[in-house]
Amino acid sequence: MIYADNAATTKMSRTAIDTMLPYLEDGYGNPSSLYALGQRSAEALQSARERIAACIGASPKEITFTSGGSEADNQAIISAARIGARKGKKHIISTTFEHHAVLHTLDKLANEGFEVELLPVGELGTVTPQQVEEAIREDTCLVTIMYANNEIGSILPISEIGAVCRKRGVLFHTDAVQAAGHLPIDVEAQNIDLLSLSAHKFHGPKGSGALYARRGVPLTNVIEGGAQERGKRAGTENVPGIVSMAAALEESCAHMEENAVKVSALRDRLIAGLARIPHSALNGDPVHRLPGNVNFCFEGIEGESLLLLLDDKGICASSGSACTSGSLDPSHVLLAIGRPHEVAHGSLRLSLCETNTDTEIDVILKAVPEIVNYLRNMSPLWKDKISGKKAFVL
Ligand SMILES: *Cc1c(COP(=O)(O)O)cnc(C)c1O
Repeated sequence: MIYADNAATTKMSRTAIDTMLPYLEDGYGNPSSLYALGQRSAEALQSARERIAACIGASPKEITFTSGGSEADNQAIISAARIGARKGKKHIISTTFEHHAVLHTLDKLANEGFEVELLPVGELGTVTPQQVEEAIREDTCLVTIMYANNEIGSILPISEIGAVCRKRGVLFHTDAVQAAGHLPIDVEAQNIDLLSLSAHKFHGPKGSGALYARRGVPLTNVIEGGAQERGKRAGTENVPGIVSMAAALEESCAHMEENAVKVSALRDRLIAGLARIPHSALNGDPVHRLPGNVNFCFEGIEGESLLLLLDDKGICASSGSACTSGSLDPSHVLLAIGRPHEVAHGSLRLSLCETNTDTEIDVILKAVPEIVNYLRNMSPLWKDKISGKKAFVL
């Protein structure tokens, strides 16, 4: 099997698994319990908090553990909205191509009377600090813009956007779920007030994430209950998941540069090879791009059929995002960068990591053109295009 869907989730690293096991076996104490068994869990949590904080330039008290990236996004955005509402500020700025954890939370706030402004992301899938600066108003309470896009891999200028927000006194949240462990994060240098990350995107376990909130930015509970996480997030902490997340993040950060060099070389070979398929187009920014992201549109095919045929050959890939595949709507991200519906349906995302190999790229580069050809030859629409009855889009 060739796993090329690392933007959907990653395989746990050996370190992440080994770090987790003792807490699934004998170290099962509840960290809120006062006896030694519980306190050992509490100490493990504290150590994980310190290590995660260190990886992003934060202090341990600024880290709240969550069930993943989605919860962290929800809590960050709702908290900033509540802070804003208390001051009569109800304008929120974001972009059209955020993850649904952000967009659907913003929908909820819009229904409560917040004014949500989504900035267009252009053909490359990015926004400029100038766009943000021009959109900021007296009543803006939050700017939430992702560090890197999960579908098309574009990397956004978040340091500069953070600087604009800081200058104008507006809270800045970034969904860094695709960036954590892959791109450098320094919440101080990058002017970030709130940041979300998720363990399963950097070889840690599913169901563990973290929300960084700058000192002095009060969080609103999205889950009510006990006083865990200093009253900011109720529920017995997922100790095995959290210690494993800390180990995975440390490991990814320690090898970030060498991984990026290796993975981007694989990515560039894959992009160059797929670009030779006629009537295809790379989606996203060719330069400011996640090391592992490849995303193409192929005219005249259905992404779902392509995925099934790739699966037959043992290749795991994605069309749109994992959350949208299964529905017939084309990806909101591809529509946001201006791809017409017809073309957006024929998209393929291959997302690589440091354990992928050159041989695997060879296999993919043989399989994809063959399948694209095969599907096109079966398509009546394609026949119309070849015969000139219908125009090509790409
Ligand atoms: C995966 C992902 C999320 C959701 O994280 P979960 O831990 O799966 O809830 C949010 N934002 C982005 C950009 C993602 O890639």
